[in-house]
Amino acid sequence: MNKADTAITQAHHTPPGPSGAAPKTCRRARAQAAGGVSSGALPLVDTQELRPSYSPNGSQPSGPVEVIDPETGEVRYFEPSGKPGILTPKYGQIDHQNTRAERWAMKWALDALLPGSRQFKCHRYRIPGKDLEVKLSLEHQKAFFAGFECCGSVWGCPLCAPKITERRRVEVEAAIGTAKALGFKVMLATFTVPHGMGSDVEVIRKQMMQAWRRGTDSRAGKQMRKMVGLRGYIRVIEVTYGENGFHPHMHVLLVLDTSWSPEIIRRLWYPIWLDGCRKSGLEDPSEAHGVRVDDGERAAQYVTKWGLDSELTKGHLKKGRKSVNPWDLLRVHALGLDHNAIAPELREVFTALGIDEKRAGALFLTFFRAFKGSRQLYWSNGLRALLGLKKEKSDQEVAEEEMDTAAALLATLTDEQRFDLVRTRQLPALLSLAEDSPGLIPEFLASLQKKNRTQ
Ligand SMILES: [Zn+2]
Repeated sequence: MNKADTAITQAHHTPPGPSGAAPKTCRRARAQAAGGVSSGALPLVDTQELRPSYSPNGSQPSGPVEVIDPETGEVRYFEPSGKPGILTPKYGQIDHQNTRAERWAMKWALDALLPGSRQFKCHRYRIPGKDLEVKLSLEHQKAFFAGFECCGSVWGCPLCAPKITERRRVEVEAAIGTAKALGFKVMLATFTVPHGMGSDVEVIRKQMMQAWRRGTDSRAGKQMRKMVGLRGYIRVIEVTYGENGFHPHMHVLLVLDTSWSPEIIRRLWYPIWLDGCRKSGLEDPSEAHGVRVDDGERAAQYVTKWGLDSELTKGHLKKGRKSVNPWDLLRVHALGLDHNAIAPELREVFTALGIDEKRAGALFLTFFRAFKGSRQLYWSNGLRALLGLKKEKSDQEVAEEEMDTAAALLATLTDEQRFDLVRTRQLPALLSLAEDSPGLIPEFLASLQKKNRTQ
């Protein structure tokens, strides 16, 4: 057993809540709206004393509250503490420490798959001219590193992708609110292409993008867009892997100036999608599944959950699911099918698909090579301006952004300490220590140094 396994196994000794799933009645608290704790005192002794407050006016929620960490997209659950405006963590620190340890294990697995790559260099080297720091967010009670080089890879990096996706999700959610306030309707359209047994996923991805352009940008496409009152859209690419191989599909949030029903819009859009697919060498999408349009409520639900799927698969895996997502592939490759962090339902899907750890890694690489460099999320021209949003930040810029909440500086690491931590794979262990017993950080770093010298 290597060190990564040990760290994870240890971190998993306490299972999360009853099912690990969010209660249906959960209210989602915006991280920003979660108020803030006084940032005056450094939490060097008992970090558990600081809790996020639910609302500035001190009102109590009636049930559990979900708080999404803006830094990593991790979901944490809080519940009323009995004191006005104060919430206590529902499942405690161990839960998110597990998630973090898993993500680092996935990162190390990726390092072995892509040695020397941008992803390999991510969270390994210091940004030149910057200090490498260990910080603790006072609002979220979570430790994080500042000053590491980031790869900004939304398709391939288990450390950067959740952060990028979560920040984009928050922006999209706000944009939908603005669109509605301006009197527009927002619907969710889903576009799929037929499964081609054994087809090359990179080819399908390119054909699908071509089909979109050749359909919606054609003369007929432009007429249709005008007819349905389309003012703009936000397009998201998602990929699953099932018995017919990789299956990329598009979810598109439509901002419409219309009084028509989703069904009418679907009927008008289907021939355009069909035409685009035919012009791009794809088989005809089915009338039943090629284009689906859902109402505003479904659109809002989709955005609320988007990107959290990889996080939630453990607790929320739907019964009867027959496909896995790329993060499932990397997770199984990194941890092994028998690891207790792999839900039994997910294990069943992998077994049914005949994917073992080694093949999961190879499939993840195939997926990553097909999608790297492409955009996961795309705003149509003019939509951001219509909704009063500034120019979009790049994935790299978002990945490098620091949390804007108050944070305590717990340690500044030397290059030698960084080297020790990377070599011994103790980076997530250091973050957990920073959350549980920050006073022990110097001792921990000294012990690593000693270990490295004696090895
Ligand atoms: Zn990265």
